[in-house]
Amino acid sequence: MISLRRAVIALTAIALTATATASCGSTGDSDSADTSGPVVSPSAAQGPAEPVTLPASASGRTAVFSHGPRNKRDKTVALTFDADMTADQGGRAAGGERFDNPGLIATLRREKVPATIFITGMWARTYSYQARAISRSPLFEVANHSYSHHAFTGSCYGLPTLDPGQQRAEVEKGFEALRKAGVADPLPYFRFPGGCYDDRALRAIAPTHVTAVQWDVMSGDPFNSDADSVVEQVLDEVRPGSVVLMHCTLSAAPATAEAVKRIVPELRERGYRFVKVSDLIATSVG
Ligand SMILES: [Zn+2]
Repeated sequence: MISLRRAVIALTAIALTATATASCGSTGDSDSADTSGPVVSPSAAQGPAEPVTLPASASGRTAVFSHGPRNKRDKTVALTFDADMTADQGGRAAGGERFDNPGLIATLRREKVPATIFITGMWARTYSYQARAISRSPLFEVANHSYSHHAFTGSCYGLPTLDPGQQRAEVEKGFEALRKAGVADPLPYFRFPGGCYDDRALRAIAPTHVTAVQWDVMSGDPFNSDADSVVEQVLDEVRPGSVVLMHCTLSAAPATAEAVKRIVPELRERGYRFVKVSDLIATSVG
């Protein structure tokens, strides 16, 4: 996991700081918000609104969002869960392997924890009832994690690689599968499989008008049955405005629900409130 973490740290380090399009028009350099006064999310102040996205750069690269304002007076954190499923795992799911995690979703509901779930098209097809139910809960928002969970760069944790010419279609196909599963309004946010992207990928998907969403806290839940280590890693690394990466698939992340049960009360005790990624982005540009 060490090398995986280093890779992600490197990726987030090169994440672009994007300029916001919101009508109030300030920039999105969230680190600068450290000591500012309380930030009110536009959606909280004005009721339901269109999700805020970040515009592509002048050179045509999709904007990348990694964390919200580091506001110590209003400590927010967004838990995000990737519902991974690659094209070749359909047969395994048919054979009984669980790529979903209903216990995790039930835990989030019970604890009333807002969360953003990035769902692959394959997962939405396989677990369409769950995708629909998640999207209909006001606690949750659903965004796009590609259709097939193939990589957008040449080397990405052994995932099969997409040709650059297929990348835009992967994002569009992901949205299509979500809508077909009954997710009426998937958020215009996209998480690259494995978090792997480069300039070419950012340009290739720009016509889809998504905001790419990375993270600044990696929970280490993939292929980890030790909830203690997931809890420890999240609690060590979380800061105000953090986006935490976790997974919603029993097959590859079996300890996540247990870890969440312990992370949530501890962070609340430390004064954090849980928000969705859309809230963090809105606050960043507000
Ligand atoms: Zn993934």
